[in-house]
Amino acid sequence: MPLPKFKYLAPKTWEEACAMLAQYKGKVRVMAGGTDLLIKMSLGAAAPEYVIGLKNIPGLDYIKYDQTKGLTLGPLALLADVADHPMIKEKYDAVAHAASVTATVQVRNMGTVAGNICNAAPSADNIPALMALDAEVTLARLGGKRTVKLDDFFQGPGKTVMEPEELLEKITVPAPLPGSGTAYLKISPRSKVDIAAVGVGAHLVMAGDVCQMARIVLGAVAPVPMRARKAESLLTGQQLTTDLINQTAAQAADEARPITDVRTTAEYRKTMVYVLTRRAINACAQKALPPCAK
Ligand SMILES: Cc1cc2nc3c(=O)[nH]c(=O)nc-3n(C[C@H](O)[C@H](O)[C@H](O)COP(=O)(O)OP(=O)(O)OC[C@H]3O[C@@H](n4cnc5c(N)ncnc54)[C@H](O)[C@@H]3O)c2cc1C
Repeated sequence: MPLPKFKYLAPKTWEEACAMLAQYKGKVRVMAGGTDLLIKMSLGAAAPEYVIGLKNIPGLDYIKYDQTKGLTLGPLALLADVADHPMIKEKYDAVAHAASVTATVQVRNMGTVAGNICNAAPSADNIPALMALDAEVTLARLGGKRTVKLDDFFQGPGKTVMEPEELLEKITVPAPLPGSGTAYLKISPRSKVDIAAVGVGAHLVMAGDVCQMARIVLGAVAPVPMRARKAESLLTGQQLTTDLINQTAAQAADEARPITDVRTTAEYRKTMVYVLTRRAINACAQKALPPCAK
């Protein structure tokens, strides 16, 4: 279907974008790479009168790291740049990997991590890895800002706590703790170039073979990306054994609330949560080992 008619607004500053959003509230959508938005518009699932493109605002594609503040991604940080960034690969390998398995080369060169978050698909690849790392987003509006943990951001498929006059200004991920390991694993029955049928993000902080902290996030198995909190609590403070890892993966599968849809069945999704959680925990534990122990 052709795109419906709309007026394209191209602010040159962030403040101008916030002002436009307030002025046209309810009739406007923000566009980063457009790889979700324009498809929705061409399918008739969104019909804004105005589209605010952010690309004329210089400097929004930044990727920064600071030992205290951690990683910060600007609203136009591209999936391709996050996937290939040496610092992100070194310190946040699950984040780089999640971006690298999102869509195709062409889409990764247009699409952004911020767009992936704001689109709020339960299957979005970048969310489980970022949530596992306790990431938060800063939301800006004319004259104000607030910060929201990704844990509290999603309300349902395509629904977030973001108000119509708010823009996602940045994504912040805390600096990695010593002894931490992260992983993101995805499975899609069709091919690599497909959205996840199941995605699992995990983050463990290890002291030797004892797990001090665990976060496990499941994608595509509930209306929102979800923490498997009971599974996490099984690991915390415990020595990692094969039995415990299997038990934790089974608990994560129990917590998942998948549906059957065109991609696969609920039953298959539960089984894959078990398999991917087990693999993700093992991968995190392996990465958390000090270099001399590897
Ligand atoms: C062929 C194809 C394959 C794909 N495969 C995958 C896949 O494997 N995994 C996956 O997770 N996704 C996939 N996608 C979806 C999409 O590419 C990603 O979600 C991408 O990250 C979206 O980023 P974008 O910058 O293009 O977002 P846009 O389309 O520009 O925006 C998406 C949504 O976020 C809002 N938005 C964007 N930026 C902001 C902001 N700063 N503030 C407020 N709201 C904002 C927009 O209004 C819109 O509602 C695929 C898409 C295509 C076309």
